[in-house]
Amino acid sequence: MHQELDAAVAAAEAAARVCRWVQERLISEEVVVKQDRSPVTVADFAAQAVINHVLGAGFPEIPVVAEEHAEVLRQDDQLRRQVLEAVATELPHLSPEDALTAIDRGDFPGGTEGRFWAVDPIDGTKGFLRREQYAVAIALIEGGEVRLGVLACPALPLALAMPDRPGCLLTGVRGEGAWMQPLGGRGRTRLAVDPQGDPRRAVVCESVESGHSSHADSARVAALLGTTSPSVRMDSQCKYALLARGEASVYLRLPTRADYQEKIWDHAAGALLIEEAGGRVSDGRGSPLDFGRGRTLAANRGVIATNGHLHDAVLAAVGAGLRG
Ligand code: AMP
Ligand code: MG
Repeated sequence: MHQELDAAVAAAEAAARVCRWVQERLISEEVVVKQDRSPVTVADFAAQAVINHVLGAGFPEIPVVAEEHAEVLRQDDQLRRQVLEAVATELPHLSPEDALTAIDRGDFPGGTEGRFWAVDPIDGTKGFLRREQYAVAIALIEGGEVRLGVLACPALPLALAMPDRPGCLLTGVRGEGAWMQPLGGRGRTRLAVDPQGDPRRAVVCESVESGHSSHADSARVAALLGTTSPSVRMDSQCKYALLARGEASVYLRLPTRADYQEKIWDHAAGALLIEEAGGRVSDGRGSPLDFGRGRTLAANRGVIATNGHLHDAVLAAVGAGLRG
């Protein structure tokens, strides 16, 4: 699994550099005020092109599940030009057609057969635009089970207490633990979840966006648990990073709509990191996340991740509170 891990790390680090480049070049005060999403569109496509190209060069036989399709780029000259400029910062010799082809390698339907990558080129696009948290997420899934996960978190410091040094990379291989190192640097440390077993002292984290996870339901769950600290709201799979390294003890993702199916690329890497750091992940009913059902977690409702000790108490509190 080490060659696969090296490829995923190289791909995530290259994509993170592309994201930072786009953020510095294209996100202005005006973009934020107008809620103009074009910079995230550019970064999303460019990062997906870079990741898929790097993974495909190392493992041409492993297909990819990723969100974006190049069709819109083939129609939109200005957008295509911007994306290709961003891709060229990492892969100066890649032809425009090969960049578009790399993006389209992400159309695999997933399932239980063989191995495939699940890629989120920018998870937490709202955080990326606000210059808050976002992540590049890459996982390798085999037989419906996550084998390996990598999260590059360009704006997340190695510890929340050291906010002046942003950028960390989390890696995990099934059975070999979860690890963290500075993004683009060296020296890895093993991660372990918070040992807290008292729900009243739990630190709960959730999405910034109330459309992605019900803030009202999580407040109810926190009240049932008797937690005293306010919830930590953060965009992207950086929430999984907080849990894996013990800075939060519970991550709640409670459905806001009955028909929403969570995307596998939003959870595969993060879930593996939690399990390898000693925690537990399930859906809101306590069922394991099933990554073999296609591009979505079609068999699951909501996501609950904890340090393990608190899992049963959290599931009980979520209980009847889960909507839909
Ligand atoms: P977060 O940053 O944790 O709020 O999650 C960002 C992810 O939420 C995006 O990558 C989307 O795929 C996903 N998303 C979009 N709509 C919803 C929804 N209604 N419920 C849950 N997740 C969603
Ligand atoms: Mg995402």
